[in-house]
Amino acid sequence: INRDESTISTGSSKDEIFQLTQTFNHMALSINQKLSDLETERAKLSTILQEMSDGVIITDRQGTIQLINKAAINLFEVSQAEPIGLTLIEVTRQHQIVELLESCAKNNKTQKVSFEILKTKQFVQAIASPGSDAMPSLFLFIFHDITQERKSELTRRDFISNVSHELRQPLAAIKLLSETLLDGAFDDLPSAKHFLQQIDNEVDSLNNLVNELLELSRAEAGHINLELRALNSLDLFEKIYERLHLLAEQDNINLVIDCPSVLPLIKADKLRLEQVLMNLVHNAIKFSHPGGEILMKAEVGEAELIFSVHDDGIGISEEDLPLVFERFFKADRSRSGVGTGLGLSVARYMVEAHGGKIWAESRHGMGSTFFFTIPFLNSPLTLP
Ligand code: ADP
Repeated sequence: INRDESTISTGSSKDEIFQLTQTFNHMALSINQKLSDLETERAKLSTILQEMSDGVIITDRQGTIQLINKAAINLFEVSQAEPIGLTLIEVTRQHQIVELLESCAKNNKTQKVSFEILKTKQFVQAIASPGSDAMPSLFLFIFHDITQERKSELTRRDFISNVSHELRQPLAAIKLLSETLLDGAFDDLPSAKHFLQQIDNEVDSLNNLVNELLELSRAEAGHINLELRALNSLDLFEKIYERLHLLAEQDNINLVIDCPSVLPLIKADKLRLEQVLMNLVHNAIKFSHPGGEILMKAEVGEAELIFSVHDDGIGISEEDLPLVFERFFKADRSRSGVGTGLGLSVARYMVEAHGGKIWAESRHGMGSTFFFTIPFLNSPLTLP
């Protein structure tokens, strides 16, 4: 305000005009400061909104987009360059969100819905709320990706149903056998012995299942305490041979150790590694044809020993191969018989806990080879 142009006609004194001018100038300064503060606040809110991992959309009652953040654009793979002004259905292509808006507007209350985006296979929970006093007649949508939670929930349900199934089978057999004994078979000694032997086998398989479940749950909770020591793999092979060659011979299967006479020491928990190798060789026997051959091998890698168990048995189909290390997976339930489908997942945990890797190569009808690696004790030059 220019003092000289002020209203002399009012008769105000020069001092009053000066004071008025000062007051106006202060007001102007304070308004400018407030505008700048507001702008800073707006920029902060906008950054938070854009950087949020949850998607946010604001619409009016008709579902016209007033605001959409980066996460929502990515979630719905919005292709339009300027989504503001478009409708919810045009932008999200999910009819559930339009229904959610209708229900939220009708009840004037927060509403929720979960749905799957078919294209990306993501599960999303959408929460719609009517705008507060600050934004009347507007609706706020928040989209939260729940794909992971849903997967864990399904895995948990699968797990429970698989465990129940695996427990029920031997329990039903034991029940049947004990009923037969009670119904009179007990008095016939040879039959009684036979039934008791079968009960004993079923109890063994239940024991096996419970042990593998315990191992698995310890492993998944990260509670495997390995007793790592220097280990000579030749001793390991001999131990496995001793324990399993009779079982192999029953099916006329030849069990062969094929490795150099001197091997670098590895750093391993003897019992756990025995368990891994036992499982692989036992599987190889189980899935081999009579007259087949199983090769237990160890080769020297760069910083680790590469173990392998090769069989010329039934093999694994291309679609089953990636699944064999999954919990409870059995390609052929009738052939796996007493197997739990847990052995290879336990083996995977054990090998990984040693810092190694495990994998399989196979073709349907052409045999299988299971490999795993265990790091050397110190360096590739450490010899027993
Ligand atoms: P189990 O042997 O108790 O069923 P595993 O976890 O050890 O459980 O194996 C899972 C599945 O992988 C087996 O049921 C079988 O279908 C397949 N598999 C494992 N090893 C072999 C093998 N050497 N040859 C063919 N299939 C195999």
